[in-house]
Amino acid sequence: MTLRIYNTLSREKEPFEPLHPGRVNMYVCGPTVYDYPHIGHAKTYVSFDVVVRYLRYLGLDVLYVQNITDVGHLTDDADSGEDKIGKRAAERRVQPMQLVETYTREFFQATDALNCLRPDISPRATGHIPEMIDLIQRLVDEGHAYVSEGNVYFDVESFRDYGKLSRRRLEEQEASGRVEAGAGKRNASDFALWKAAAGTGHMMRWNSPWGGGFPGWHIECSAMAMKYLGETLDLHGAGVDNVFPHNEDEIAQSECATHAPFVRYWMHNGTVLVGGEKMSKSKGNFKTVAEEIGRFGAQVLRFWVVSSHYRSPIDYTDESVRDAGRALERLQIAVQNADRYLGLPVGDETDASRSAAEELTLQTESLRRLFLEGMDDDFNTPVAVSALFGLASETNRVAATAAHRSPVGARAVTGAREQLSELLGVLGLDVSPASDAAEDDIAGPVLDLLLQARAALRQHRDWPASDAIRDGLKGLNVIVEDRPGGATWRRGSGI
Ligand SMILES: [Zn+2]
Repeated sequence: MTLRIYNTLSREKEPFEPLHPGRVNMYVCGPTVYDYPHIGHAKTYVSFDVVVRYLRYLGLDVLYVQNITDVGHLTDDADSGEDKIGKRAAERRVQPMQLVETYTREFFQATDALNCLRPDISPRATGHIPEMIDLIQRLVDEGHAYVSEGNVYFDVESFRDYGKLSRRRLEEQEASGRVEAGAGKRNASDFALWKAAAGTGHMMRWNSPWGGGFPGWHIECSAMAMKYLGETLDLHGAGVDNVFPHNEDEIAQSECATHAPFVRYWMHNGTVLVGGEKMSKSKGNFKTVAEEIGRFGAQVLRFWVVSSHYRSPIDYTDESVRDAGRALERLQIAVQNADRYLGLPVGDETDASRSAAEELTLQTESLRRLFLEGMDDDFNTPVAVSALFGLASETNRVAATAAHRSPVGARAVTGAREQLSELLGVLGLDVSPASDAAEDDIAGPVLDLLLQARAALRQHRDWPASDAIRDGLKGLNVIVEDRPGGATWRRGSGI
C-alpha cells in the first residue's frame, strides 16, 4: 500500500514521496481573523487535521505550519478593497490587534473543540514583516517586481509558469475583466507584494525600503512557509477558493525568488454550502462553529466533516448533521456492546459461538485493511468510515445479545474494539463511554443512582414510577435498557 494524494498541480493522484524520506513539511493557509470561525473553517481544518493524523499514524514525522493572517487580506481577495481586519476594526471602533486577538482565540477554541491537533507553528503575518520585506526585495532585485508610487507589484509576465496551478492563462484573466489595471501597474494581472499605507492614520503600517505600508496577503504565506519549512514544501493545503489568486501568486513569488519548486503536492479542500447556497451574513445562513457545536456537539460536527471526502463540496443542512449524529451513535453502541460483552460472566463455548468469534477476527483484519486502503487513496474518509460501520455491525453480531461470553469470543471482541478505537482515533474521534464520562463527570454517577432507585421501585412492583423514570430520561436523550443483569443506560435518541 502506498499513499496517493490528489495533486491540484497535476490534477492527478500521485504516489506520495516526501522530499526527505520519513519527514513531511506541511503548510496550510490559516484563517484571516476578523470574524467568528464558521462551518467552512470546520471543514477545512478538520480535513487537514485528518491528513496530519494519518501521516503521523503512518510513522511520518510531520512538521505542520498553519498561519494566522492578521493583516493584508483585502476585501476582494485581490488587490482592491480595504484590509478586512482594518475595515472591521474601524466599524467596531477597536484597534485592529484587539480584533485579531479576539478572533484568534475564537479560532483556536473552535478547532480545539473539534479535536484538531494544534499546528506545530502558528506564525502570525504581522510577526514576519522583515521576512516579507526581504523576499520582496529579492524579487525587485531579480527583476520580477517593480515599485510604483510606494506600492510594489509582482510582474506576472516575468514568470513563464504563471497560471500553472489554476490553469488560467493571463489573456483570459485580463479579458474576464476580473482584474483592473491602474494604480501604476504595468499589467492588469500584476499583483501587490507591498501596499502603500494611505495617510498617517493607518495603524497597520510598517517602514520598508519603499515607504510606510503593509504586505500583500499572498506574500505572507510564501514568507512564513519558507521560513519554517524551507524552499520546497512537501504539502501545501488550502480551501479550493484559494487556488486563484492566492496560491497561484504564492508559487510565482516563491519560485521566482528561490528558483526551486515551491510545493510538491498541492491539496485543496472543497467548499461548504449552507442549504444549497454560499454562506453569507446577508443571506442569514452564516453558521458559526461555536453555535453549531452548541446545537449538535463537537464530535458530531467532526463526524459530519469526515463522512464526506475532503475534496467534495458539501451542503450543510440540519438533516445532514443529524444523520451524522445517528451514524456516530451506531459506532458508540457497538463499543458499548463490546464493553458489555466483555463484562458478562463466562459461559460455555459452542461451535456456533466459536465460529462467530473466528469470523469476527477475520472481518476485523479485512475491515482494517479496507480502512487503510481508503485512507491511502487520497484520504478517502467515506471508505474509511464505511469500514468502521462494518466493524461495528460485525462486533454487534457477537456482542449485542449474548448472555455470557466465551474465551474465544472475548479475544475476538477485544480485538475488534481495539481496532475501532484505534481507527476512530486516526479520524480524531473517540466514542468510548469513558470519553463521554470525561466530558460530563457528574451525569454518569447521577444516572447510575437513578437506575438503582428505579431497580428498588421495580422490586416493589411499582411499574408506573419505574416507567416514569425511563420515559423522563428518554426525553433527556438517555436510553434505559433492561437487561438480564440489570438496567443500563446510554446516551442517544433510541434509534
Ligand atoms: Zn495562504
